[in-house]
Amino acid sequence: MSLPTTQRAVVVDKVLVKNEIAGVNYIDTYFRTGLYPSPKPEVLGREAAGTIAALGPETEQSGLQVGDRVIWLANGGYAEYSAVPAAKTLKLPDALSYEDATASFMSGLTVLALAKETYTVRPGDWVLLHAAAGGAGFLMTQLLKKIGAHVIGTAGGPEKVALVKSLGADHVIDYRSEEGMDWVSTVIAITGGRGVDVVYDSVGKDTWEGSLSVVKRKGTIVWFGNSSGPIPPLPLNRLSPKCVRIARPTLFGYIATREEFEQYANELFDLLVSGALKVSIHGLYSLADVKQAHIDLEARKTTGKVLIKVSE
Ligand code: NDP
Repeated sequence: MSLPTTQRAVVVDKVLVKNEIAGVNYIDTYFRTGLYPSPKPEVLGREAAGTIAALGPETEQSGLQVGDRVIWLANGGYAEYSAVPAAKTLKLPDALSYEDATASFMSGLTVLALAKETYTVRPGDWVLLHAAAGGAGFLMTQLLKKIGAHVIGTAGGPEKVALVKSLGADHVIDYRSEEGMDWVSTVIAITGGRGVDVVYDSVGKDTWEGSLSVVKRKGTIVWFGNSSGPIPPLPLNRLSPKCVRIARPTLFGYIATREEFEQYANELFDLLVSGALKVSIHGLYSLADVKQAHIDLEARKTTGKVLIKVSE
């Protein structure tokens, strides 16, 4: 058989980004521990912001230039340089700092998709949001109030409760306190026995059953994370008594095309630049302190977003 000297192939066009700030997301811990399988060794980190250092071949169509300030969503963010798909890289508005952009990018895109597509939150809906002081929760609380929903948040500890209240949440339950542990009864009481229209639950193992108890008849539960561990297999007939809808979404399913990615990102950038969404940064860790960043995140010590300052 004679071998050809050239071949046609589909190439994912990459750009090389000199990262300034990388986001630490709970998903990074899943890849580290193997809860979500991935080839090892692996550079962790799903998002970072920085400047384009070099363009790969065939990237002219992307409109990106060397020196552009960008943010990306791909793999390998805990690094000084990342080669990432041009299709998953976006220019940053001048008004957005690397810190604010990274503090809100993956988390912000997620909460927009959850509140618009997974379940479309309407004004007047009763919403239960777990871990409301976290990276995603901090932004989701604001978004839900902006839409006009009644928000019941849960958070661990008085400081987190105060933070979520300051964002306008209608009720905040400290589900780690003795009083708040029976958050199921509290939510039922707050809603006059009816239950909530939708639960956004990223805590998983520790809360899934309570979430099922507090959702109203014909309500929706969005299980979108495993911060306390994954939900055990659930017999579908558990949903029948109240005709409950469930969803188990991932952000990446909502931004698979460039058009979807740009649409959500532009909406997020507008909200940030106009001041309609505030960001909260728990801390800027150095690249050498990534281990500590994960320890703090998993120990529930953080509020808002954890960031890594990659450049010295
Ligand atoms: P967070 O900043 O929200 O950190 C996780 C929080 O979960 C903690 O601060 C803690 O808040 C709460 N929590 C409750 N129980 C536990 C526990 N046993 N161990 C650790 N934390 C616990 O993280 P992120 O904002 O990065 O992510 C939030 C969630 O959203 C994660 O589950 C993540 O996987 C999910 N996610 C899903 C996406 C998707 O596409 N499906 C995309 C992005 C995020 P408290 O002390 O108040 O209880």
